[in-house]
Amino acid sequence: MAQVKGTLIEAWRSFLKDRYGEEKVASAVQSLDADDRLHLLSPTRDSSWYSMEVQEAMGRLTKALATPADKDLASELGRYTADYVFTKIYPTVIDQDAGKKKAFGWFDYVLFQDLRKCVSESTGPTSSVTRYYYLEGKPTPGQCRSLKAFLIRMSELRGRQNVTCVHRKCLSKGDDCCEFLMEWEN
Ligand SMILES: [Zn+2]
Repeated sequence: MAQVKGTLIEAWRSFLKDRYGEEKVASAVQSLDADDRLHLLSPTRDSSWYSMEVQEAMGRLTKALATPADKDLASELGRYTADYVFTKIYPTVIDQDAGKKKAFGWFDYVLFQDLRKCVSESTGPTSSVTRYYYLEGKPTPGQCRSLKAFLIRMSELRGRQNVTCVHRKCLSKGDDCCEFLMEWEN
């Protein structure tokens, strides 16, 4: 069974609280069904693992809070999550990795267990390709947009500039994996 690290749930909670305020988040939780409420009202910790149901409940909570003014919440969440993960929880990962050319695929296993296989390879001095082979289920288009924004922000935090990312292949479009081509300037 796939599991998600508490860090991602905590980052997501923090994103919603920053954006909508504690009160709105709390009342949106109450609008969800009993199973979701149970998941969302149980405390989570950065260092523990949780069932994907908790992540799915976070998705429904986000939908309940979203307004027409929110243009691309998924991408904003992805960027926010990268900042949360790499500046608050794992700052040494970025420091140790800064300046290295090697790809960063191993870090995916810090955040998810048994969800997907991540293969990241360097394709030149300023480009890389990262592929995600899902073992369970399919990502939604929103999850792919979040992941793309996360990858871009992670690259920026590693000191890369003018980072671009193209989601060339997607499982939800019938491809065998989700593939992201990253390019940047040093
Ligand atoms: Zn995709």
